[in-house]
Amino acid sequence: MDQLKAWEQVCLELREGNARFVAGTMLHPHQAPPRRQEIAAGQSPRAVVVTCADSRLSPEIIFDAGLGDLFVVRTAGAVIGDVSRESVELAVTSLRLPLALILGHEGCAAVRTVLDPPPGGAPEHLAAHLWPAVEAVRDWPGDLWENVTKVHLQRTVAALETSTRLAPLVRDGRVKIIPAYYRLASGRVEGLPGPAAGAG
Ligand SMILES: [Zn+2]
Repeated sequence: MDQLKAWEQVCLELREGNARFVAGTMLHPHQAPPRRQEIAAGQSPRAVVVTCADSRLSPEIIFDAGLGDLFVVRTAGAVIGDVSRESVELAVTSLRLPLALILGHEGCAAVRTVLDPPPGGAPEHLAAHLWPAVEAVRDWPGDLWENVTKVHLQRTVAALETSTRLAPLVRDGRVKIIPAYYRLASGRVEGLPGPAAGAG
């Protein structure tokens, strides 16, 4: 097998961790007291994960990881604003992370609130970020909620790939930014490239 690129290796680890979580065979790595000592002087996580603040998908749990393994940025709907974008940029540049995973999920309430606003209207900043995805998929077949969430993920990837600080790193192949989608009941993360799915 060819030597894996750094981001491919991290994808593989995330896939393996998620497979353990799905199967209920978690190892719970890096969660015992010695790990705190090990990382007290500095962190070297494997990836940055941008995901929703939803209580049902904590990244360290669904990827069977532990302390110091993932740099996590969470907002409702995994919406990227100025501060969350800079958080991703900081992680990628200062910690030299090869992978940014943008993880959306089934049943996202932030997306729902824009599709079906409560009395008084949807939160304005969330709506402004999500609305272009709603417009894009309006005539698509299939599940509107899921389609909007997935197009929003693609748009978030594109926005990060073209950010001033990340664009040169993306061009040089020093960071890969990819979308993925989490299924609530199965616990499975879909879309992580790997040997079976074909790494592009
Ligand atoms: Zn959500």
